[in-house]
Amino acid sequence: MEYPHIQFRLNKSLDKKMVIEFLDFTTGGINFGKGILNIHPEIKRSIFGYIDFFYKRNNKILKRSADNFRKKWKTKEKLFFEVISKIFRNHPWPKGKYIGYISIFDCNPRFLQDKTFQIFYKHKTGPIYITVHELLHFIFYDYVNKKRKDLRKKLSEDDFWRLSEIVNEILLNSPSFKKIINNQKKINGYPEFKKNVSCVKHKIKKITEIDKIGILIDTVIKLL
Ligand SMILES: [Zn+2]
Repeated sequence: MEYPHIQFRLNKSLDKKMVIEFLDFTTGGINFGKGILNIHPEIKRSIFGYIDFFYKRNNKILKRSADNFRKKWKTKEKLFFEVISKIFRNHPWPKGKYIGYISIFDCNPRFLQDKTFQIFYKHKTGPIYITVHELLHFIFYDYVNKKRKDLRKKLSEDDFWRLSEIVNEILLNSPSFKKIINNQKKINGYPEFKKNVSCVKHKIKKITEIDKIGILIDTVIKLL
């Protein structure tokens, strides 16, 4: 079984591109623009000028966080890929770049088409959590696209996204993922899905067992 190697890099121009999209964006009960302005209130004066200034002034810190993310991920990747293989029954990892770009904004978007994502350099749940969360999306989308074509045809893009977020939150709070993320506290996803998540949890026990991913998907689908 081949596993992708994840790289962690800085990418200032991606931050410039994404901030424009996120400054005016709210979804799933999270206001991203507000989040950006809370951390970087000065950005209002000159968006790109501010980003250049911030990168220059914090260059060392940003580089150090990329190194740090790399080291941390190395300690958990093996366990992560083993757990994923079990849940997704050895579904092969889709091709892609597999790069986590360090970001100065706490938006943490992912790019399904080339398998890259952004991680806030000071993320409160840590780089392992974000990396696990995004990689889980990558394999989940690929799995549903290829193994559940019946379902894929019926789902709108928005419902597919909801399904993936709810499945993510349930899996990430299961015991095998807690070991990877090293966080015993409950991980909260989008506030909008809180009700759905607790409803699914109630219906399904021990969801990380092999052959349960199908049941999990079918249970979530009914609630969308
Ligand atoms: Zn997500």
